[in-house]
Amino acid sequence: MLCPKCGKLNSQSSNFCNNCGKKLNQIDRTSKRGFASMEPEKRFKIAQSGGVAAHKKGSAHQFTSEEASAAGKKGGKSRKKS
Ligand SMILES: [Zn+2]
Repeated sequence: MLCPKCGKLNSQSSNFCNNCGKKLNQIDRTSKRGFASMEPEKRFKIAQSGGVAAHKKGSAHQFTSEEASAAGKKGGKSRKKS
């Protein structure tokens, strides 16, 4: 159960936040889970940091010259000449 006030992750059975004491809305616990239950800004930051981390590791997808030319040919049909 994610606290809507401070974002603290409490156990599913918690009625109140262990961190700030806010009453937790138990109704939402099944409809909002994981990523979807986070605030948009928080999700963005996580997605952003995840992307950076992937780049640092070198695991993020990078176009090779062959892929780039292949993608260029595909895109060329619908895209205007640059
Ligand atoms: Zn809280």
